[in-house]
Amino acid sequence: MNPLLDFSDLPRFDAIKPEHVTPAIDKLLEQSRAVVASLEAPLPAGEHISWDDFVEPLENTTEQMGRAWGVVSHLNAVMDRPELRAAYNENLPKVTEFWTALAQNLALFDKYKALKAGAEYSTLSAARKKIIDNAVRDFRLGGAELADDQKQRFAEIQEQHAALSTRFSENVLDATNDFALFVDDETELAGLPQDVKQAARAAAEKDGKAGYKFTLHFPSYFPILQFADRRALRETIYRANATKASELATAFSKPAEWDNTQNIVNLLKLRDEEAKLLGYKSYAEVSLVPKMAQTPEQVIGFLQDLARRARPFAETDLAELRAFAKTELGIEPLEAWDMTYASEKLREQRYAFSEQEVKQYFPEPKVIDGLFRLVQTLFSVDIKPDTAPTWHPDVKFFRIETNGKLIGQFYLDLYARSGKRGGAWMDDARGRRATAHGVQTPVAYLTCNFTEPAVVDGKPKPALFTHDEVITLFHEFGHGLHHMLTQVDELGVSGISGVEWDAVELPSQFMENFCWEWDVLQHMTAHVDTGAPLPRALFDKMTAAKNFQSGLQTLRQVEFSLFDMHLHFDYDPYDSKTVQDVVNEVRQQVAVIVPPPFNRFQHSFSHVFAGGYAAGYYSYKWAEVLSADAYSAFEEAGAAGGNTLSAETGRKFQQEILAMGGSRPAIESFKAFRGREPTIDALLRHSGMTA
Ligand SMILES: [Zn+2]
Repeated sequence: MNPLLDFSDLPRFDAIKPEHVTPAIDKLLEQSRAVVASLEAPLPAGEHISWDDFVEPLENTTEQMGRAWGVVSHLNAVMDRPELRAAYNENLPKVTEFWTALAQNLALFDKYKALKAGAEYSTLSAARKKIIDNAVRDFRLGGAELADDQKQRFAEIQEQHAALSTRFSENVLDATNDFALFVDDETELAGLPQDVKQAARAAAEKDGKAGYKFTLHFPSYFPILQFADRRALRETIYRANATKASELATAFSKPAEWDNTQNIVNLLKLRDEEAKLLGYKSYAEVSLVPKMAQTPEQVIGFLQDLARRARPFAETDLAELRAFAKTELGIEPLEAWDMTYASEKLREQRYAFSEQEVKQYFPEPKVIDGLFRLVQTLFSVDIKPDTAPTWHPDVKFFRIETNGKLIGQFYLDLYARSGKRGGAWMDDARGRRATAHGVQTPVAYLTCNFTEPAVVDGKPKPALFTHDEVITLFHEFGHGLHHMLTQVDELGVSGISGVEWDAVELPSQFMENFCWEWDVLQHMTAHVDTGAPLPRALFDKMTAAKNFQSGLQTLRQVEFSLFDMHLHFDYDPYDSKTVQDVVNEVRQQVAVIVPPPFNRFQHSFSHVFAGGYAAGYYSYKWAEVLSADAYSAFEEAGAAGGNTLSAETGRKFQQEILAMGGSRPAIESFKAFRGREPTIDALLRHSGMTA
């Protein structure tokens, strides 16, 4: 039997081979298509549509597709090998086509509508109603209700939009790859760390040239802005980066070809047309339909409020930086290409501590134990080692229980290795669902790319994590808890399924806060040689450094978010007013640092023009308000003489937020937990922005 088609329990990573992929996917596609075809057929006269006869079989078949392909994608991401990659690439188009066709299947849309209008609907659970509502909503947003001629235009818009987005990011990438700055004289590189110089030397060598090569890839150009003492060098790289893919890109070989000016306008026109076809006034309104935020005005109001509160702190940040640059560095006036450099020097002077020093206090076993203890205390669960076939000997497997009952399991794959995609993420291997044979418990993949344990003098040493890595681990574990501690029995809205995009980071960012909690850190740190916990003085420095220039950083995020929102809300791409005019207006409103007139950051703003963030960039700050405010419930419990790690508050968080998943709107879950609407206060306090 093909192990990819065995859905009886956990994925059989010990048996799955690349040659299983194509036969399994073909078989599942064939099965799914047959099920879909039978569900498409009109019901015999006198019969009524029901959840059990329609949604249930559709979910059964699509769940198997999702789980099998999930295993293949996961392996492709963490164990990339030529045979597996070939199998993945061979099947990806077929799988994508299946999901696209499903999302546009009008017969299924009609059935969902009939289900919503039918007699059974009012008798269904809230979770089932939500699944049906979400399906109808998504079909509508996908153009399913348009007249035939409009449908054709809608499809053309999607196609042109996809092509333009791709073009946008290709232009950014081509311009980034095209730019090269060669420096012959090492004295020109004064201030740069040795490893940055070595990388630049190696890059030049690769091109068969002498000296040092710098590019517009982040690890190459950013250290120049941060560390290079030569002001002219910083200016050169700043200008190149700030003008790439724009009409001002003089430092590139094909400036006209890679200019994104018209692509931006055309993307905005297509989005505007799509919104109007769907019956909305603006694309921002379309974007917000499946999100937690209600209206563009609400988002703009939120951002302006945040800007107003951050502004005094940003002004102080800037005044301090200017004064420091003038007296300590002899830089005046402070130009755009001096900002990062001067900030780095100021940060070093104020909060000097070494990342290396901090790392010694975070050996892996202590950190993992601390994380598990915290979760066990807060949510009254037990986390125990478990066994399962895995894809690599380094992968660990655990189970979560309450009162001896299994509620979820997870794989923990911590270390970087070749063939493993970079970054950190949580993904689901399967979701919680009630079946005829009992409850299917959720299973998660938690993947990070930390440094593996080293062997020093023949002795194995535990892996040491930076504080940033510990935060990353907690973040991903927060997503994992959302997935695994759900109590919803319906696959479509259990765990993170169906959770609004601008609320999905609540549990993950919430968990990050504990990495700044002294009570937690004391028990989660032990110096790798001496066993001593993190010293308080070092912790205080870390905390102070955390909020360095938070006023300026907040305003920068608000500026990007407001620009994105206005572009998709009240900007008319057919007007004589330009996109640059919108940038300028937003800066007039909120910025304390106005970049030079040649700055064209929007020409490489891929989140919004080539990613999924159009009229959605605000989500970062939006979710941060929710996570900070949720966390403050624990701080209040601590301040009231209780414990910050209050099991009572934890249980409430688990019941009202983690357990509920996507079965009800995020705002309802939040209010049920907090007993009120979210407020911005905790975010401001955590960022050091309180008077
Ligand atoms: Zn996240």
